[in-house]
Amino acid sequence: AGTLYVVATPIGNLADLSVRAQQVLSSVDVIACEDTRHTQRLLQHLGLRKALLSVHDHNERDRIEQVASQLSQGRNMALVSDAGTPLISDPGYPLVQALREMGHKVVPIPGPSAIITALSAAGLPTDRFLFEGFMPHKASGRRERLAPLAQETATIVFYESKHRIIETLTLMEECFGPDRLACVARELTKAFETFYHGTLGNIRTQLLADADQQKGEFVVMVAGNPEPISGSEVDTEKLFKLLLAELP
Ligand code: SAM
Repeated sequence: AGTLYVVATPIGNLADLSVRAQQVLSSVDVIACEDTRHTQRLLQHLGLRKALLSVHDHNERDRIEQVASQLSQGRNMALVSDAGTPLISDPGYPLVQALREMGHKVVPIPGPSAIITALSAAGLPTDRFLFEGFMPHKASGRRERLAPLAQETATIVFYESKHRIIETLTLMEECFGPDRLACVARELTKAFETFYHGTLGNIRTQLLADADQQKGEFVVMVAGNPEPISGSEVDTEKLFKLLLAELP
């Protein structure tokens, strides 16, 4: 039977494609990809011509049988997304899960991912981090996601688009306080790569000052709470107040 290779591709700079990724892409029979036009450009750059199969959020479940049958016939396949590592805020999870359950061989070909790239140069603690991916589009949904994270002690990492970056930084200031340390990585590995390091308030001010700094792709990293209030402390405080109210 064939193998499904889960291949990481560059997040900007094409030179970041690994030699092994290139070897696998040139050797497989079919490449399952998020957007055929996007992957076609990468293949053109590599001088490769391959059969492509689109696998995106809307058809992924229907594709499972197709991919499984190709593998059963002994064909090797690669799964790529538009940028970075598949399954990391990208399609592929239902496919990989189903193939594992069926007993197919799934092999990772590691490479770029915006989260690890951003953390590696942010200067925030990396011993423990929580990846939150994309937050909901609506501001109310984002506030609901952020509020319970205020006590988190690990570094928290978010993916964000240019459409919501300012609004998200504003909500983060509201939920974590303007003095919380953070780092925003913009356009990683590309011509305008920029890191903004400082307090949430300071970073928001820097981005607001120049509309050009609000363009591109962003990874937002927020340091954990250095002085979290534990659940039990909160409860004791509540209890104390309740008891106080009972006193004559
Ligand atoms: N699978 C990808 C990975 O491994 O990083 C992530 C795909 S997700 C659909 C796209 C998001 O990742 C962007 O909105 C941005 O938050 C982040 N991202 C991807 N490339 C980036 C880059 N070059 N610079 C900054 N952020 C990036």
